[in-house]
Amino acid sequence: MKTWNVGFIGLGIMGRSMSKNIHKGGFPVTVWNRTAHKMDEAARWGAETAASPKELAETCNLIITMVGDTPDVEEVALGEHGFLHAAKPGTVWADMSTISPDATVRLARTAAEKGVRMLDAPVSGGDVGARNGTLSIMVGGEADVLEEVRPVLETMGTIVHCGPAGAGQTVKACNQILCGLNLLGMVEAMALAKKSGVDLEKMLEVTTRGAGGSWALSNLGPRIVRGDLAPGFSVKFQQKDLRIVLGEAERLQLPLLGTATVHQLLRSVQAHGGDEDGTHALVRVMEQLGRVSITPRNEE
Ligand code: NAP
Repeated sequence: MKTWNVGFIGLGIMGRSMSKNIHKGGFPVTVWNRTAHKMDEAARWGAETAASPKELAETCNLIITMVGDTPDVEEVALGEHGFLHAAKPGTVWADMSTISPDATVRLARTAAEKGVRMLDAPVSGGDVGARNGTLSIMVGGEADVLEEVRPVLETMGTIVHCGPAGAGQTVKACNQILCGLNLLGMVEAMALAKKSGVDLEKMLEVTTRGAGGSWALSNLGPRIVRGDLAPGFSVKFQQKDLRIVLGEAERLQLPLLGTATVHQLLRSVQAHGGDEDGTHALVRVMEQLGRVSITPRNEE
């Protein structure tokens, strides 16, 4: 089996745990993070640190990026100190950030011109999945490249090969449509229950088990009942993901009415200062629209 020297770029909420799991899986890891002090923790568990993405590429043959949005991936890959300026032909690049599928196809082409084989490998499962190595990883790109690096990716979660370059990001976009619409369904159901005088916990007990159940209902419903709107997954990131979805819809001339509605409703959460709240803060908008108190905070 080929030896992988893994270079990991982006030690945020997700990346710091994912890189550690790769190390625990027995692969040497070199890290780079824009804010340098965040590399201290990785150095303590045994990572090498690099001074720039470009320097990292000099010693690594598998480069993983886990940064924010499309421009951030472009920056670490192609910016002044980008790793693609130094990556050796044959290097594999797995981008695990959530970015535009369309931009991913272009980045894969640019990488290929430099002899670098790119996979898009976004994830679902949140910070808990990142910590526990139980992420759902959706991969686009060449199947044989995935097979080569599969042992490394498997240290972070479960893998499904979705198709050619961009297919992983497209499946992630589908996932975000479902997350958004399940969220809306949940807060509408809660508004109806509460305004009708039905106990919210009883409603959740029944519906989580039925055909209307969803991850949102099971996991976020009880938090709303407790008045806990902390993230999980922040409104700011969900809005970034829905912008990606709606960008694809625009490109494909596809009307996505439900997704557009959720995007606008979450904008109202943002307008009230809720950027850093969990996505289930959508309940606040429902409370205002329906003149109904759903969370305990509003009943005080
Ligand atoms: P995060 O905590 O905000 O961390 C973002 C990381 O990217 C940080 O290391 C940040 O560096 C780096 N970064 C951002 N812009 C950069 C730039 N222009 N140049 C260099 N580095 C840059 O985010 P996260 O929660 O780990 O999420 C990372 C990706 O995973 C995102 O695409 C997100 O949508 C996706 N994702 C997140 C979750 C989740 O539950 N959090 C779940 C699934 C997928 P600094 O430390 O210098 O800021």
